[in-house]
Amino acid sequence: MLNLVIFGAPGSGKGTQSEVLIEQYGFDHISTGDLLREEIKQESELGKAAKSFIDAGQLVPDGLIIGMIEKVLEERQPKRGLILDGFPRTVAQAEALDELFAKHGTAVHAVLELRVGEDELIQRLLKRGMGSGRSDDNLETIKKRLDVYHAQTAPIAEHYGKKGVHHAIPGSGAISDITARIGEVIDTLG
Ligand code: ADP
Repeated sequence: MLNLVIFGAPGSGKGTQSEVLIEQYGFDHISTGDLLREEIKQESELGKAAKSFIDAGQLVPDGLIIGMIEKVLEERQPKRGLILDGFPRTVAQAEALDELFAKHGTAVHAVLELRVGEDELIQRLLKRGMGSGRSDDNLETIKKRLDVYHAQTAPIAEHYGKKGVHHAIPGSGAISDITARIGEVIDTLG
């Protein structure tokens, strides 16, 4: 059982690469962004609480996210491996995840950081916004999300660097080339 975290700025390709990895390795996938958008669609209490944060480009409070993750992990009980996409997004979330995994006798085995330049990220997200209808893919909110990423999410690279599980992956170029780079890391994990 392999626990992978795929992490990177908005638009860095986390969702795209997760899809390929699910296909190639049969991993289970948990995307907190997808889960939150589903809660919003269902008009649940959590969805209502999360919507204003998402539309403002801010993070949903840690307590709500950690509660959601605990519930989903219990429901799914992944077997072969797990890709966490969009979580953890703060050092507090990373610490909560470490504790949760430790309780279950497991750990985060690798954190894959997809690195893409800022201009390319903005272009990708604007393009996605034209097709996806996502309320947060507009220029103002994209810039806010990138600021939040640098301030609150990027520090988790250091958190996992200290544990020796952080890997930086160049995230520009063909999708298949990036998948191959990720595959090289996964192969070293055994
Ligand atoms: P992107 O990586 O393009 O921003 P996501 O779908 O991962 O897309 O996230 C969309 C929004 O959902 C974020 O801007 C944030 O408001 C919220 N969100 C997702 N995951 C988390 C998380 N782990 N902690 C807090 N907020 C989150």
